[in-house]
Amino acid sequence: MNPEKLRSRCRSNAWGTFRLKKVALVVILYLTLTVEGFEDDDLYSTATDFVKPLNAITFETQVIKSQPNLIWVVEFYNRWCGHCMHFAPTWKKLAEYMKEWTDLVVIAAIDCSQPENMLPCRRFDIQSFPTMKMFPPTSVIDRLGKVELIKTQSLPEIKTAILDFMTTFAPETWPRLKHLDEMQDLWHEKNIYKSELFIIFEDEDSQIGKMVVLDLRNVTGIKVFMMLRNKVTKFGITEFPSLYKFNPDSTYSKLAVGNNSLESDRLLFVQRIKEDVKTTQANSLSVGSDKDQKDPSAVNRISGAISMDSKEQTSHSNRSDLESALHYSLRQEVAICQTIDGERLGALKEYINVLKKYFPGREPVQLFLVEVWKMLSNLQSPALTGEEWMNNLDSLQAESHYLPEVIRWASCEGSSPQFRGFPCSMWTLFHTLTVGAHAQSQGRTPGDAKEVLLAIRGYMKHFFGCGECSKHFLEMSEGVESEVTSHTEAVLWLWRRHNQVNKRLHGHESEDPRFPKVQFPPRSVCPQCKSPNGMKWDEEKVFAFLVGFYSGAGIFVPASLQSFKEGNQRDGVDSLEDSIGLGNKVKQLDWWEKKQRNRDLRVVRELRLRKQKKNSPNRAVALQHLSAEKSQVDEAQMVKERANNIRSLWGVTNIDLSMCVVFYVISTVIILLLYHHFIIRRHRHPCRAAKTKSLSG
Ligand SMILES: Cc1cc2nc3c(=O)[nH]c(=O)nc-3n(C[C@H](O)[C@H](O)[C@H](O)COP(=O)(O)OP(=O)(O)OC[C@H]3O[C@@H](n4cnc5c(N)ncnc54)[C@H](O)[C@@H]3O)c2cc1C
Repeated sequence: MNPEKLRSRCRSNAWGTFRLKKVALVVILYLTLTVEGFEDDDLYSTATDFVKPLNAITFETQVIKSQPNLIWVVEFYNRWCGHCMHFAPTWKKLAEYMKEWTDLVVIAAIDCSQPENMLPCRRFDIQSFPTMKMFPPTSVIDRLGKVELIKTQSLPEIKTAILDFMTTFAPETWPRLKHLDEMQDLWHEKNIYKSELFIIFEDEDSQIGKMVVLDLRNVTGIKVFMMLRNKVTKFGITEFPSLYKFNPDSTYSKLAVGNNSLESDRLLFVQRIKEDVKTTQANSLSVGSDKDQKDPSAVNRISGAISMDSKEQTSHSNRSDLESALHYSLRQEVAICQTIDGERLGALKEYINVLKKYFPGREPVQLFLVEVWKMLSNLQSPALTGEEWMNNLDSLQAESHYLPEVIRWASCEGSSPQFRGFPCSMWTLFHTLTVGAHAQSQGRTPGDAKEVLLAIRGYMKHFFGCGECSKHFLEMSEGVESEVTSHTEAVLWLWRRHNQVNKRLHGHESEDPRFPKVQFPPRSVCPQCKSPNGMKWDEEKVFAFLVGFYSGAGIFVPASLQSFKEGNQRDGVDSLEDSIGLGNKVKQLDWWEKKQRNRDLRVVRELRLRKQKKNSPNRAVALQHLSAEKSQVDEAQMVKERANNIRSLWGVTNIDLSMCVVFYVISTVIILLLYHHFIIRRHRHPCRAAKTKSLSG
């Protein structure tokens, strides 16, 4: 072989080997850096400690480009430094302590004594060891600018610092770690109505609340909140830290009181909550017991607990749904009518009358309905425009009686906005009214048993927004006068009709996939409601169930309202309160009621302010502008219309012109086709043309 060639081949071989070695080196280095784990002589051990090992690459890929919703707490250490050795057991304990929360916070460590880890240590200006820094989740804007130094080496203080940091930067997906400012802040939280609510009252420097919230974050169906001592002493809560449960009927009960020892209180509260959830679940399973069958209020309590299960149609009447139904029906469905007169006005009066008598909501709302009733009764004219109706409703809003202008679906919330909501709340309202009428008729000469059903029919006929629904309902309720002779019958009549609708709509596109329309009540809610073979309803049991189901949810009739009720209804009201187990709890609920009321009053005040603004001089100027603009637009419109009119004066309309164009195009195409057929073809086949000519010649 030519020596020159040989040399060049050797050179290229050597170069190849060198390149291979280089690649291998890089691969080895990369593997060394990316393979996670502490070395044998390190301060931490991958096998026994919960500290997450980091190096330059994993620091970049896992801390800097962290998964969302994760807080990193990193110790920058030097394996040779004595302080670090001394501190290592503390860091290990911390990591072990937080090992249940690794989906929220990671305790990690990086050895800055290793040259390959130089970059991150330099980048974060680590000048002494150990240095501990906390990195907010990626959702935080300018996240790396908000990295915080832990200034202590004491374990309890580090824990507190981390908890405070977690509270400050908690992403939306985490449970709430901040204390509630006001009790009503609860209702702004997500999925509140589908959960059992627990609340921890504690001192400002206490960490128990946060720890319990974090410990129970993955337990479904419960929510734990915290409130500070200074916010709740006025409500008569005197022991701190203490754990309370909010019952479905809006009462609260004390579950535990701590002794200010962080770990034992934490354990106690977590345990008590878990036990309580277990008991509630066990109760819901024993719903078919004999005792419950005889005691509708027991069924009600249990159904309240069951209603936490969002997958089934087990939700019971809820104050929030009922008030939202009222708001929408009065301020939208009735107000949308141009004129309310004749039969329609009669229907409205009947509707308001039964609401005034049987709506089981809060005192101000009930008083508001009484005011509406008075307004309608004293109406001087035989008709009312929709606008007048709205103005009247607005003017009736006052501090002592009002209807909140808010829609907040609770049990009626669908899996997406197009499902459930208003129609669901109207069914709930209607059932609640029939049950309310039944409750008030107890122990007295029953009033008109059909009164509520006729009012519902009137509402469906004249106001319900869905035309098809009202048509069907009117068909279904044709025989109501003869079919219903008692309040019990009325409750069952509506139940049967509702089930007919459920049957018809099962599989319909309006059916919420998460709340399929089943025959109600399903076995899971009321196992005793059907015969043992599951074929027939036991209507007595169904009735008892419905009474429990639709008279609960913390809805009670306040004593101050009695004077507005008809005749001697005091007994009936008492029995209603007793039947829902609230007769002696009205006082206890008072502060809660007040809180709710204050919130609504704020809304009323805002409404007034808005109204005042509407009437202010600025508004007048704005209106002038608007009307000027409107007249300009109107003028332009008139000019356009005039032009159209001129055109039509010639007898040629736009349609005529379009037809002309179409015919013109069609005739052009036909001429072109004919031209192609006769002329072009002759040019292409001159012989055939000549032949034809000679033959013909
Ligand atoms: C009077 C009326 C008639 C309607 N007619 C039609 C119609 O013809 N066509 C149409 O498309 N939509 C109709 N709708 C709407 C439809 O019935 C539902 O309200 C809507 O589809 C929402 O359904 P939902 O799953 O929330 O449960 P809904 O049927 O609204 O029920 C609400 C809640 O009531 C309880 N419940 C269910 N069944 C019963 C029962 N038999 N007795 C007592 N409580 C029960 C359950 O807790 C349920 O969650 C009507 C609504 C009303 C108020």
